Amino acid sequence: MKIGFIGLGVMGRPMAKNLIRAGHELTVADHHPEHIAELVELGAKPAACGKEAAEGAEVVITMLPNSPQVEAAVCDEDGILAGSHPGQILIDMSSIAPLASHSLAERCRQAGVTMLDAPVSGGEPKAIDGTLSIMAGGDAETFEEVKSLLLEMGSSAVHCGPCGAGNTVKLANQIIVAVNIAAVAEAFTLAVRTEVKPEVLFEAIRGGLAGSTVMEAKAPMMITGHRQPGFRIDLHIKDLNNALETGHAAGAPLPLTAQVMEMLELLSNQGFGAEDHSALARYYELLSGVALHS
Ligand code: NAD
Repeated sequence: MKIGFIGLGVMGRPMAKNLIRAGHELTVADHHPEHIAELVELGAKPAACGKEAAEGAEVVITMLPNSPQVEAAVCDEDGILAGSHPGQILIDMSSIAPLASHSLAERCRQAGVTMLDAPVSGGEPKAIDGTLSIMAGGDAETFEEVKSLLLEMGSSAVHCGPCGAGNTVKLANQIIVAVNIAAVAEAFTLAVRTEVKPEVLFEAIRGGLAGSTVMEAKAPMMITGHRQPGFRIDLHIKDLNNALETGHAAGAPLPLTAQVMEMLELLSNQGFGAEDHSALARYYELLSGVALHS
């Protein structure tokens, strides 16, 4: 397939690499020339903007930070819609506000382009392995048309409902992850304060009901003090903001989300926004005066 790919960050780069390995012809765009160069070395064509990446492509994929960046990449003068043709499919794999997905899909529809929102879960390691979980919203027929393409980047692709549903599911995912990380950091702080070694706590409970994918991935980072993202605190703030806005509009109360949002905001204000979200442990270190790592 001829694919335009826009957004070659932590996630977009390995996803685009997997598509090249699967034999697709990629034209790639990003604000960072060095990200483009990495893909060009593997056989991709460089594009100066979304318009150029979209020209002649059957499918265009975006993997950008948030709603404003996707809106710009799609709607700007040199954006995707300026280079698209009727019948083209746009798959936005960024995690953005469901309402933004709705209005973008409408702009696309007016240009004869069908849009799916298809955010992912799994982080950089699963983007590299091509084992992301993909949750899609939009027209069911279009989803079936591109499902095999999605499965070249992920191990599962689930159609969740109409446009925006993929992002609603992603927000639910982000709430569960954020609250789970906070619970792990809180429980580990109790253990350390009462002189149980964090490694011992992890080993003792990981196989029980409290064990989780989140604990498996994040407890070792808390114990070693490894803060390299992974998933940045500032990106998680963006997701929880979108979750709170969506919850308020829908009448769904999200008190735990609001609480963890404030913890993350504090850390971002203290200059830790670029660290991995497991650095939520820092919040408890500030409260308790003890670090989880030695
Ligand atoms: P990132 O910040 O590493 O990458 C974003 C890339 O987009 C950057 O390279 C930037 O230069 C480029 N960009 C921004 N605006 C652009 C524009 N208008 N035109 C062209 N390029 C532009 O972000 P990421 O970690 O790759 O995340 C991308 C999306 O995936 C986000 O919505 C994030 O929430 C989601 N996500 C991230 C992870 C993770 O673990 N990092 C996991 C799941 C989902």
